Amino acid sequence: MPKIYLIDVTNRDGVQTAKLGLSKLEKTMINVFLNEMGVFQSEFGFPTTRHEIYYLRANLELAEMGVLKPIRLGGWIRAIQEDVETTFRNVPEIKHLNLSISTSDQMINGKFQGRKTRDDVIEEMTGAVDAARSCGAETVGVNAEDASRTDISYLTEFGLAAKEHGADRLRYCDTLGYDNPFTIYDSARILAEKVGLPIELHCHNDLGMAVANSISGAMGAIDGGQDAYINTTINGIGERAGNADLIAILLAARKSKDVEKRYDLGGSLKLKLASKISKFASYAFDVPIPINQPGVGANAFAHASGIHADGVLKDPGNYELYSYEELGRGDPIKVETGREIIAGQYSGISGFGHVMGKLEVTFKTREEANEILELVRYANVEAHKPLVEDELKFIAKYPQIAKKLLTMTPLE
Ligand SMILES: [Zn+2]
Repeated sequence: MPKIYLIDVTNRDGVQTAKLGLSKLEKTMINVFLNEMGVFQSEFGFPTTRHEIYYLRANLELAEMGVLKPIRLGGWIRAIQEDVETTFRNVPEIKHLNLSISTSDQMINGKFQGRKTRDDVIEEMTGAVDAARSCGAETVGVNAEDASRTDISYLTEFGLAAKEHGADRLRYCDTLGYDNPFTIYDSARILAEKVGLPIELHCHNDLGMAVANSISGAMGAIDGGQDAYINTTINGIGERAGNADLIAILLAARKSKDVEKRYDLGGSLKLKLASKISKFASYAFDVPIPINQPGVGANAFAHASGIHADGVLKDPGNYELYSYEELGRGDPIKVETGREIIAGQYSGISGFGHVMGKLEVTFKTREEANEILELVRYANVEAHKPLVEDELKFIAKYPQIAKKLLTMTPLE
């Protein structure tokens, strides 16, 4: 029976959101947390973008070291041969790629302005798939941008051409959040049946339906006999109104009426890390978690009205669909209200030693402590805010990787 897998695109769609961004260390921590959670793949960045190169290579090194394992790290590029070549020049170790090109008439006419036809789009895409294969890509996903506004018979033809050239998955992009759960179910099912490739669901939230559409699209793909790969972002952060929220997708796949009975979530996903990953992304993006966010919002388990409070006290199942413990909530949080020593970009060794001592991180020599402190200073310069405990521990544990993450050489 085909299954649902998750490909988180926070480090690609999330970071390309207007007004938002992440440091390379923050992106790395997100990969670490996604791996801990059991997410199948992280779309970890842009191999044709120069400032990503050190970060991408360092993360692939972490994969090689077994730190980022079993998660797959996939790069995102345009489906043109030139981007494939640049990718393997910049990041020769990369193994997984998604290649993207617009498929709707709206975009073919509106973006390419008469310079490309539908046939040209297919030719460009298959050329890019061939190039990725010959450069050594292990898996290739092909993205149909604006798939929801693309004529389904052309989309089928596009998918079949991708398959013929060795693509592993077809990404159905509801780029403008135009679909609804009924239309996307039908499209995904038709594509799964007629193309015969696993279908990725990439949904945006412009009409508030990203999560519902992703789940429904996944059902369509599975009913059509293929695996479904849902694209998520942490806290739903993404362009405009955002993407399908990772935690809400996990909850919907597990808790929605009859879904889990018929549609299997592949791998062992740890919902227990939901609160941690959501909080980290909120801090890193500097975007608060909405009070009513499913599972992780401050009000997700709050009850005030008489009938509800009475009901939930008698039996939580009366007014809660799932428990807060399942999402890793419920532990008291210690907030410092007195003196605080923080590691920053101008920290000295004494204060730094104190901070790391509290985390039970010790150094063998003063040189080692100084080296880690220097890396922490640089990480602070990039992040513009105090590092979280996990970041400090990461730098202390993998200083050589941290050094690469913090390397920027624009004038090379
Ligand atoms: Zn997107």
